[in-house]
Amino acid sequence: MKKKNTDKIAGPGRLDYHQSVIQVPDHVLIPFIMGDGTGPDIWKASQPVFNTAVKHAYQGTRKISWREILAGEKAFKKTGNWLPEETLQAIKDFHLAIKGPLTTPVGGGIRSINVQLRHELELYACVRPVKYIKGVPSPVKRPQDVDMIIFRENMEDLYAGIEWQQGSKGAVKLLNFLEDTFWIKISDDAGLGLKPISIKNTKRLMRRAVQYAIAQKKQSVTIVHKGNIMKFTEGAFRNWAYEVAKDEFGDQTITEKECAERFRGKAPGDKIVIKDRIADAMFQQVLLRPAEYQVIAAPNLNGDYLSDALAAQVGGLGMAPGANIGDTAAVFEATHGTAPKYAGKDMVNPGSLLLSGAMMFDYLGWKEAAQFVRQAIEKTISQKIVTYDLARQMKGAKQVSCSGFGKAVCNNILKLKV
Ligand code: NAP
Repeated sequence: MKKKNTDKIAGPGRLDYHQSVIQVPDHVLIPFIMGDGTGPDIWKASQPVFNTAVKHAYQGTRKISWREILAGEKAFKKTGNWLPEETLQAIKDFHLAIKGPLTTPVGGGIRSINVQLRHELELYACVRPVKYIKGVPSPVKRPQDVDMIIFRENMEDLYAGIEWQQGSKGAVKLLNFLEDTFWIKISDDAGLGLKPISIKNTKRLMRRAVQYAIAQKKQSVTIVHKGNIMKFTEGAFRNWAYEVAKDEFGDQTITEKECAERFRGKAPGDKIVIKDRIADAMFQQVLLRPAEYQVIAAPNLNGDYLSDALAAQVGGLGMAPGANIGDTAAVFEATHGTAPKYAGKDMVNPGSLLLSGAMMFDYLGWKEAAQFVRQAIEKTISQKIVTYDLARQMKGAKQVSCSGFGKAVCNNILKLKV
């Protein structure tokens, strides 16, 4: 998607879309959700970093104004609602937000606010880049071989939240319906869930993944599925994803099969190789041969597991950025949870939120600010200035607080050449 600046620096304005082109004013207003648990800790450490990166990169010609919007526990305390309508409306109006983690109770209570946000705003692609930052302790031998980006479908699959509690009227009705209509006998004491996978959601996810691969000159896009078992959901995801590559990007892509049969495995020109892997095999592949994979397109649940497994390979969730992106809005977020036992202790690693902010700057077309954040994080880690999670794995580390890490990153930004 092309980006174009429109306004002179003045009062804050909103990001906008005109015919799919993002228009970014030089003074942009960005709504933020602090989040629950350690959310406020990481936000307080990250916000100064974002401001410093923009100020240093653009010397006053670009600026951010921030507006807090409420979700989660803070919203519930103030408004009695976990996800107030004004919050959704603000993200719709400004087409953008950045957020900390939000609490979700397991096995009952409220529906995940994250899932609600994705659905209400049609943020159909969860985008998770996973790249090694030099100096971060990793459990694998060659973490530097990991440079992947996962495009995970966000709207459906088992994550759609279409479920019936065991013993509920709905569950009994559905069990009876399945038995009477399809002669499917399921244990009477089962809870039930539905796994929808549609052409529309699969194709727009794959389209985004291939567009990214083309724009960033990546070598391959890998479809990850469990289609050998779930033929009409995950198998169909695979087939529809291949269709997008062939029908819409046929002159820029080639299948792995064709590449092997006609070109001895070497893609002609700069064609992007479209491959597919069965999910369980893919977990081995990313551990054993990570350099062979660049862009991944996956249904919701596979993508969820794979994102966290890959993040672990490069040093853990504390450093993994992410975004949920639709056609007219994007929400950038820390990918870890609320880590409640550390809440308010100014202790956890703000790296995930910082790197999500860098992704947000890329999305705005503010490449210099994005680079400053990334370079300064790398520099800070190379100086062995790290939070507890990395310090416990590094020899000679200087352990700092969450805000201390943010300050060190700010100092390193200011040393970067403009
Ligand atoms: P979690 O909050 O991610 O915490 C699990 C562990 O990961 C922590 O105890 C800590 O490990 C480590 N960790 C997480 N964030 C870290 C950070 N910034 N820096 C350093 N270490 C970090 O996972 P959880 O305990 O399963 O989930 C807690 C709550 O968060 C749940 O309500 C869950 O639903 C929610 N959640 C929200 C999101 C989201 O909003 N996007 C995502 C996932 C989970 P050590 O104890 O080993 O130091």
